[in-house]
Amino acid sequence: LPQEFITARPILQTIEGAGYEAYFVGGSVRDTILKDHIHDVDIATSAFPSEVKDLFKKTIDTGIKHGTVMVLDHQQKYEVTTFRTESGYQDFRRPDKVTFVRSLEEDLKRRDFTVNALALKEDGTVVDLFSGLQDLQNHILKAVGIPEERFHEDALRMMRAVRFASKLDFVIEEKTEAAIKHNAPLLKKIAVERILVEFEKMMMGQATTKGVKYFLETGLYAYCPQFEGKLKPLSQLLNLNPKFRLTTETQVWLLICHTLELSREQSRSFLRAWKTSNELIAEVESGIQLLNAISKNSVSEKLLFRTGKKVLQSVINVLLAMNSKIDTSTLLARYNELPIKSTHELNVNGHDLLTANITTPGPQMGRIISYLLDGVLTGQFKNNQSELLLKAKKYTSSNLES
Ligand code: ATP
Ligand code: MG
Repeated sequence: LPQEFITARPILQTIEGAGYEAYFVGGSVRDTILKDHIHDVDIATSAFPSEVKDLFKKTIDTGIKHGTVMVLDHQQKYEVTTFRTESGYQDFRRPDKVTFVRSLEEDLKRRDFTVNALALKEDGTVVDLFSGLQDLQNHILKAVGIPEERFHEDALRMMRAVRFASKLDFVIEEKTEAAIKHNAPLLKKIAVERILVEFEKMMMGQATTKGVKYFLETGLYAYCPQFEGKLKPLSQLLNLNPKFRLTTETQVWLLICHTLELSREQSRSFLRAWKTSNELIAEVESGIQLLNAISKNSVSEKLLFRTGKKVLQSVINVLLAMNSKIDTSTLLARYNELPIKSTHELNVNGHDLLTANITTPGPQMGRIISYLLDGVLTGQFKNNQSELLLKAKKYTSSNLES
């Protein structure tokens, strides 16, 4: 067992010692059997939330309505969730009713895919009620129960299928795939924020092109913001370099906006529709601007400076993912050779201009700073205070004359 489980063992033992059942469940069990790195360890139990709280000194009611209690133990946090069943699902997205139950089987039944419905006992034995182990071995993603029904209950599961296909490099079982094709329009019922999470994870998986292939073939794409009618451009994503992995959300969206040939303004409204953060929008806009300049062969030092290292790295990663012939190392070298990397490094600031009586606060000051910055970035001026003040003086007097 990986260290994460061994550290969490006493939690399970405490619950079992009180006469309840407790298991590791979900992604961590799946990933351990696949020998993948695991992140959070989830625990499921027959104990009801109040019973869990009685067993531990420190707990937090994180999601008590859904049966989840956070247990704090030796600086670690564990989500302990009571076995539950879900029913209702009238809106195709969430159950009308969550019922706490004492049966593990009932809890595993409500889970999305067989490989996500395994439970691991504290002694290392695996509870496998839906042949999840076999599907894990064969790299198959298969809905638990009747796929049609499961996607009707919660349409987000269809996006989860394509994201796991990409994340795990698994194929989707035939009936499960057919049910996604058939029910893809139900994705319209799901909040964009939740689709966003799964889409981004799909794009950042180890088998992006496999995920994308399912995403396009099943028709799911057409029910995502502004993807309708975009099958042709989106199909270019199938040619991504399989050895290259996108590692940030910014890279994902930069690639998508570039693939759809969106302008800066179009990218902004497109990303607003996807409800991404403003920070991400700003980075993508900046990246799109650089990509446009690259394609016109008009990348200036000033643009590299304004783009900054972080966005430049994203642009480079996107170009590599696209197997682009652009010489990205030269681009990076040019950035690294910039005499300054931020405005703070300019050896003259607004205060200096005031002290030297060159200008008064206002728009003129901004123009002077920008002029000096240009000069330094293009190598015309040295980044030296007395030289820069001299250039500033000349600039203001020639501006007064004209
Ligand atoms: P990851 O490694 O990406 O976190 P995960 O399998 O842990 O993958 P989560 O979204 O964290 O995925 O969900 C934890 C578990 O809860 C899943 O393994 C699955 O058993 C169950 N689950 C989550 N979302 C759903 C859903 N929409 N329908 C059914 N079961 C779900
Ligand atoms: Mg998880």
